[in-house]
Amino acid sequence: MQFSETFAASLDANDKLSAFRSRFFIPEIKGKEAVYLCGNSLGLQPKTVEANIKAELHDWAKLGVEGHVHAKNPWLSYHEQFAGPLARITGAKESEVVAMNALTVNLHLLMISFYRPCQSRYRIICEEKAFPSDSYALQSQAKLNGYEPFDAIREIHPRPGQAHIDEQDVIDAILEEGDMLAMVMIGGVNYYTGQVFDMKRITEEAHKVGAIAGFDLAHAIGNIELKLHDWDVDFAAWCTYKYLNSGPGGVSGVFINEKHASNPKTFRLAGWWGHDKASRFKMEPDFIPIPTAESWQMSNAPVLSMAAHKASLDIFDEAGMENLISKSKELTAYLSSLLQEVQQLPSHKGLFTVITPDKRGCQLSLLFHKQGKDVFNFLSENGVIADWREPDVIRIAPAPLYNSYTDVYRFANIIKQFSPK
Ligand SMILES: *Cc1c(COP(=O)(O)O)cnc(C)c1O
Repeated sequence: MQFSETFAASLDANDKLSAFRSRFFIPEIKGKEAVYLCGNSLGLQPKTVEANIKAELHDWAKLGVEGHVHAKNPWLSYHEQFAGPLARITGAKESEVVAMNALTVNLHLLMISFYRPCQSRYRIICEEKAFPSDSYALQSQAKLNGYEPFDAIREIHPRPGQAHIDEQDVIDAILEEGDMLAMVMIGGVNYYTGQVFDMKRITEEAHKVGAIAGFDLAHAIGNIELKLHDWDVDFAAWCTYKYLNSGPGGVSGVFINEKHASNPKTFRLAGWWGHDKASRFKMEPDFIPIPTAESWQMSNAPVLSMAAHKASLDIFDEAGMENLISKSKELTAYLSSLLQEVQQLPSHKGLFTVITPDKRGCQLSLLFHKQGKDVFNFLSENGVIADWREPDVIRIAPAPLYNSYTDVYRFANIIKQFSPK
């Protein structure tokens, strides 16, 4: 009954957020709208991006340097517009977030502040199969501080026969490391399995042993509920080109708990854009940090790429993160139940397993026991844009802002039409 185009259309008709789809450009394949399920890799382009960028180009053309003060959105304070929307999406105070740089760069900057090992307290806990950039960053931070990565970093791996990590294993590792533990740094949502970690609990346990808790929110921001301030998270960083639809290489963002940001003793690499605003242009040699996350900014803001970020955050504010999350839960539950039906077809028995645990955001990861690449090619031929992870995983992410129940139905139906060997 639910596995039909008419049923999916009826769900779309009842979806209060369905109109937001028309705010985005949907890519086409062979002249037809693609089923785009890859927002966890690169979010779609809001139609307002072009006008936003053009407005800045116009002000630059007309005003030159004066645009810093006289542009419609003055460049001097351009990034300040994001504090409100980012705080709403991440559950932070406005003083705890700032948009700047790129994600891996920001992870390094934050670890320079918050991974400050000393002789006996130097260990890091992270998850196995973290995104490679995060592993490289952790390894090089360990080396920067004079430690061997294999000694400093403890990866928590899934139990045998499981793809996701048992959260208890993270907690047990924290307790075991005890006063050797300097930092826990985990992806809030694992990019590969789509598993959501209990950031509140991990932060609490890390704090109990005197360690710092930091999270990479690349796959969490714009996807799941975040309450970074209330959870007492120490620091976090994210990129904005995935669920936040801010364009390829779009500006990243960071969260720094106010207890650290307002403490002048917290070490931060300094640059003029982090300096006290009232005296910044006196150009004096001594650094006075702004007592907020903004003091981690070193350079003036990349306004052109931020113009795309602004287009997207305006849409998030209009839609509301709570509404998006509640649609997301239903949309992914619909996907999950259609896939369960497909798995029960005699022809499809044993073809794939969903390795995403129940604690998830919108993404489902399908592990294929055979013919994974054939299925992926079949999906592509039939107008689906999804994500292939060697050797055998297809990741699917229905994004509640622009994906419809019909998208989900079409995807599941194409898998159903595939004839396994
Ligand atoms: C997407 C992603 C990155 C990408 O890093 P950039 O610095 O933006 O290139 C890093 N880490 C994780 C967990 C990601 O999902």
